[in-house]
Amino acid sequence: MTKTRMTTDAVRVRPDIAEMEPYTPILPFEVLSERLGRPAEQIIKLDANENPYGPSPKALKAMAELGRTASIYPDPESRKLRAMLADYVQVDASHILVGAGADELIDLTMRLFVVPGDAIINCSPSFGMYPFDAALCGARLMSIPRRADFSLDVDAIEEAAQENDVKLLFLCSPNNPSGNLISPAELERLLALPLVVVLDEAYIEFSGVESTAQIVPQTPNLIVLRTFSKWAGLAGLRVGYGIFPLSLMGHLWKIKQPYNLNVAADAAARASLADLPALIANVERIINERDRLLPELEAIPYLRPYPSRSNFILCKVVGMEAFWLKTQLEDRGILVRYYKTPRLSDHIRISVGKPEQSDVLLAALRANSY
Ligand SMILES: *Cc1c(COP(=O)(O)O)cnc(C)c1O
Repeated sequence: MTKTRMTTDAVRVRPDIAEMEPYTPILPFEVLSERLGRPAEQIIKLDANENPYGPSPKALKAMAELGRTASIYPDPESRKLRAMLADYVQVDASHILVGAGADELIDLTMRLFVVPGDAIINCSPSFGMYPFDAALCGARLMSIPRRADFSLDVDAIEEAAQENDVKLLFLCSPNNPSGNLISPAELERLLALPLVVVLDEAYIEFSGVESTAQIVPQTPNLIVLRTFSKWAGLAGLRVGYGIFPLSLMGHLWKIKQPYNLNVAADAAARASLADLPALIANVERIINERDRLLPELEAIPYLRPYPSRSNFILCKVVGMEAFWLKTQLEDRGILVRYYKTPRLSDHIRISVGKPEQSDVLLAALRANSY
């Protein structure tokens, strides 16, 4: 065989990646503001469930004071943060792994269990990262549709779980985008299945119910994922964590990138936990605003909002195209989430902002003629 220089055609990526649909990237905020011809401060951003009150001032201060620490690699075991998290979630630190957002923990969990050809169960509609990471791992996606009210079809999940090579069941409570909770009875039934349950609690702080994290040490097939992105306003810094059974932790330590949590994110997360009363007060403000907003949205003739235990409200749009409504709002500088998927293409999801932002939104919705 003669050695030949590679041509572009000869350079072949993994076939499954070559066949993947390209990802539609989310436009950066500055690009959007330019496109809408409005300064960023004037845009009412209710499309990504971000915290309208921003981070704790103490988190900002901690990052400003990093100094020389910024030039030194972080502690690969994030010991200080994990010790504080142990207090916050009431589970021993040996069960806790932190990462660059809950997104990284979803990816790590998938890599830990899935070899190409294995299956995962997703209860659609739910968070888009589960199918995304499943595809990257070559997992077969078993999509079990939720019922009309977005509750879980537990019977159908039980049936799907009987198939071969089903490794993981992804659950989200409160569910993104529908805002509803999974009941303890449903969870108990699902934990009896021969698979590992990944319970995503990204929005648990807004729900008024206790986290399930505390039962992880006694439950070998339960993983609970949480994040600082929503309640603590650190979405841009990427800090999430998972609570895992001890039997999995040793393996997770082997596969995680050593410096997955950067020093700024680590400092901000610790300062946030040291400023809990202020951040919980913001969470209360968001909950109050959600509960004020719901009946106001119900009174809009073309909206059918679903009750929510989270920091967003999903609304069915009737008598007009949801996409058209989304663009109408966008023209007024208000961003809401629109979905292209068949089940949700006649819905929008509205993140709960500050009261004055809701007022602008409501005025725009009322003025919108159809
Ligand atoms: C926002 C969100 C996450 C992602 O959290 P990060 O910590 O920002 O990666 C995880 N799960 C759900 C359901 C979310 O909505």
